[in-house]
Amino acid sequence: MKKIQMVDLKGQYEPIKEQVNRSIQEVIDNTAFINGPEVHGFQKELEEYLGVEHVIPCANGTDALQIAMMGLGLKPGDEVITADFTFAATVEVIALLQLTPVLVDVNPHSFNIDVEAIKRAITPKTKAIVPVHLFGQVAEMDAIMEIAEEHNLFVIEDNAQGIGTNYTRKDGSKIKTGAIGHVGSTSFFPSKNLGCYGDGGAIFTNDDALAHTIRGIVNHGMYERYHHDVVGVNSRLDSIQAAVLRAKLPHLDDYNAKRRASARKYSEKLNNHPKITTPMICEVCDCHVFHQYTLRLKDVDRDALVKHLNAHDIPCGVYYPIPLHKQKAYADERYDEKDFPVTNQLVKEVISLPMHTELDDEQIEYITSKIIEFID
Ligand SMILES: *Cc1c(COP(=O)(O)O)cnc(C)c1O
Repeated sequence: MKKIQMVDLKGQYEPIKEQVNRSIQEVIDNTAFINGPEVHGFQKELEEYLGVEHVIPCANGTDALQIAMMGLGLKPGDEVITADFTFAATVEVIALLQLTPVLVDVNPHSFNIDVEAIKRAITPKTKAIVPVHLFGQVAEMDAIMEIAEEHNLFVIEDNAQGIGTNYTRKDGSKIKTGAIGHVGSTSFFPSKNLGCYGDGGAIFTNDDALAHTIRGIVNHGMYERYHHDVVGVNSRLDSIQAAVLRAKLPHLDDYNAKRRASARKYSEKLNNHPKITTPMICEVCDCHVFHQYTLRLKDVDRDALVKHLNAHDIPCGVYYPIPLHKQKAYADERYDEKDFPVTNQLVKEVISLPMHTELDDEQIEYITSKIIEFID
């Protein structure tokens, strides 16, 4: 059996090696390391793939979120609602811009932001909602867009874990995540579903004026060379990373299909165990791209299970072990424990299994048998 890895970037590279190497070599040969033709080419191809008017590449997914908020003109003191159960980048940029983070609880089945909790958290100062398509599962976007419209709020989709996910709207039409809100962001961190070989990110929008504003912000606030109209940042996707991403983008749907297939196989083996809740898998649509395959455990000593799996050379992860409202950097007396029953429970129950495009049946069989062996 192949060595089991949490993500297998080498295995994914092998079949596209020639193409990737050739593209990287071309960048070196033409020395257009910054804003070269590869960056523009990738931008256009991603716009087409997502069905979105504007893609603005940038340096990483955290910058993408920050720049999206800057582009929308959010001001210190504005309240931004986001999920308590997610990676810290989302709340970090809210805090950095001196906006007020308003963390709310999540749905226990989807792990995504709880729509009713959003409604309860809205005040006259609320300016934006940031749903995160956590683990690759799309958030309840129709409901979130309706709330936003009613209260005149912006919606910023953190699509770092959800690229390639399709959302089926109430009218039956399909749309890619990241293209639904007023603005979307993603990360091309190597382990993400579309990862480069370093750092990278992008911002998406269908709003021409916002796209123009953002293109200036990523480039030191310049709209005309050496005219700095707004305070900006320096956030670029470099040409070598764009070359890697151009080689990988045509495979994204196939990569996501492989993840989905592995998720189904895991669930077939683990579904019927009373101590395990497998993640929701929608039978009729592809609304989950399984950035992570995350179980909930009941009456299981999770730390001991992690040790057991590691002892059998099976890596696993706990995403995430601490609710954001309890992190030292983001704790605040505004928060009331009674408002976070789901997140407080999930952080104790979740465990994420190896998930990538190169998992095979033998590995899945081995991993699931070792889990069941331990908890039975
Ligand atoms: C990875 C990730 C980010 C940050 O992306 P970087 O490219 O690492 O800055 C933001 N939000 C979520 C949900 C992520 O998973």
